[in-house]
This record gives sequence, structure tokens and C-alpha cells, in this order.
Amino acid sequence: MAKILVVDDAQFLRLRISKMLNQSGHDTLEAENGKRAIELYQSDHPDVVLMDVTMPEMDGLDALKHIRTFDANARVVMLTALGQESVVLEAIRAGAKDFVVKPFEASRVLSAINKIIG
Ligand SMILES: [Mg+2]
Repeated sequence: MAKILVVDDAQFLRLRISKMLNQSGHDTLEAENGKRAIELYQSDHPDVVLMDVTMPEMDGLDALKHIRTFDANARVVMLTALGQESVVLEAIRAGAKDFVVKPFEASRVLSAINKIIG
């Protein structure tokens, strides 16, 4: 059981992911952009962050980099789309622990989380 921050500008996706994580016994928090993700990370200290890349206000790559400046141990999994290979590489260099390509199966997200918290 972990506290997971779900970051995506698509509300339906946040709800879908949160529901799946809750059903697996995890607690969830949601943010709709990178800026809000940073605020919630600082106030609620989630165990894992699932981070979308393309979002208004602040994108996922910038949010990842910012979070890593104050928590070098932050565990962030990027949610990417096909065609974002360069973003994936940059995210891994910036300290992302894993990435999941959309559209994804629930099991893929859960196994990425279990690998990190296990
Ligand atoms: Mg997006």
C-alpha cells in the first residue's frame, strides 16, 4: 500500500488510474498540471508520482526536474505517448524511475508501482 500522486491534465484518465489504484489498496492524490503536482508533493509527500508529460501551466518534465531539486529520492514514473521517445530519454536522465506508454493496461501501471515500492 502506497500513497500515489496521479498527475494528468485529462480528468477521465486521473479518475481511471485512481480508481484502479484504490481498488488495489493504494491511496491516491490528483493534480491537473505540473505546478499543482509540485505543491501536492511538498504538502503530502507521496511515495510514488505518476506524471503525464504534456500539460498546461507546467509540463511533466519540468515538474519532475523541479521535484528532484528538493527530493533527490523522489520516485516518479512518467506517463508518455508514442512519439515521445526523446522526452523519455530526458526524463530518465532527470531521474524518472520508469515510464508507461499510453494507452496502457492497468497491470502495467501496477507492476511499475510494485517494482518501485517493493
Ligand atoms: Mg496531457
